[in-house]
Amino acid sequence: MRIGVAREIKPREYRVALTPAGALELVRHGHEVVVEEGAGVGSGFADEQYAAVGARTASVDEVWATAELLLKVKEPVAAEYGRLREGLTLFTYLHIAADAPLTRALVDSGVTAIAYETVETADRRLPLLAPMSEVAGRLAPQMGAWALEKAHGGRGILLGGVPGVPPAKVVVLGGGVVGFNAALIAVGMQADVWVLDRSVDRMRDLESMLNGRISLAMSSRLQIEEAIADADMVIGAVLVPGALAPKLVTREMLSLMKRGAALVDVAIDQGGCFETSHATTHDDPVFEVDGIVHYCVANMPGAVPVTSTKALTNVTLPYVEAIAAKGAGRAIADDPALARGVNVTAGKITYRAVADAHGLPY
Ligand code: NAD
Repeated sequence: MRIGVAREIKPREYRVALTPAGALELVRHGHEVVVEEGAGVGSGFADEQYAAVGARTASVDEVWATAELLLKVKEPVAAEYGRLREGLTLFTYLHIAADAPLTRALVDSGVTAIAYETVETADRRLPLLAPMSEVAGRLAPQMGAWALEKAHGGRGILLGGVPGVPPAKVVVLGGGVVGFNAALIAVGMQADVWVLDRSVDRMRDLESMLNGRISLAMSSRLQIEEAIADADMVIGAVLVPGALAPKLVTREMLSLMKRGAALVDVAIDQGGCFETSHATTHDDPVFEVDGIVHYCVANMPGAVPVTSTKALTNVTLPYVEAIAAKGAGRAIADDPALARGVNVTAGKITYRAVADAHGLPY
């Protein structure tokens, strides 16, 4: 199969959908890999590294026009809509439930569009979303520690303290993939770490995964108020599938907190779990409300494209290999997880939540 890898043109997107290591696996299986010139540069991969493993680099026009399977990271932007066509399978993050123009372009073009974020296993895991949650979770204490520095508006406390000076207290709301990874790093930075979740089973898992090095509490209004009152950093990592994040910390509750404490709202891509959050960018990541520093970057993994690219391609490659080996139709028919990833095909929406969001037939 001829597999194209497009260069991302969305502002500040440095990831690429295939590493040279992944390209080599595909080439070894007899596939033709065509990478757009400069596609890997933002993630540290020069065109020569793709050439060295037997992939070819080509212009944007050639990559889009000749690929049977096109790999991307982010959804096509308006300038790319005209390149969508029948006979092409597009494999990328799409998030089209909130994007009517792109949904229309995909339907009108006849393309088969498979969204990373809706590939779902029988046990309800989202394998192509999890690595980005791992990256965001591990980044959260790092970004929060930065925000806690005096020069960045924080109260000027070192997470780990020093001998004779106690460490900072980090409270993580939600102990899922983001929350576990945030706690893991915060523990590694020697902070005093608390995780609040609503699932007792999940808290049992966290206790054993983190060897009892964290304190665990049930998430309720009172427990959250008590936990944040003496916290130096609060990390928002809750998810209620299919819904906006619950506002667990209201503006009123900020008055309970220490001035200069930091809030890191990882759940901002689902609306945020602090009432005072609004999305920020890597260029201007923090703002202050009532003396509390807020960090609310909606695409945190974009800060570390080298790691994020490798983490993403580790999980997408098996699906890419299956599509390349069998053809998209057979691969989708054989694998219910991949089938759940298909959002649009042959002019029809094939994912119910997307159809419902746009009031279109399913
Ligand atoms: P997850 O499903 O693995 O974990 C969510 C956890 O929240 C679960 O353990 C659940 O029990 C818990 N929870 C639900 N309601 C709660 C409540 N009221 N109080 C306490 N805990 C509660 O989800 P995840 O992969 O960890 O993702 C968490 C959030 O991070 C999502 O909103 C996701 O979209 C977001 N995210 C953001 C970025 C970014 O760059 N900002 C990157 C990746 C993920």
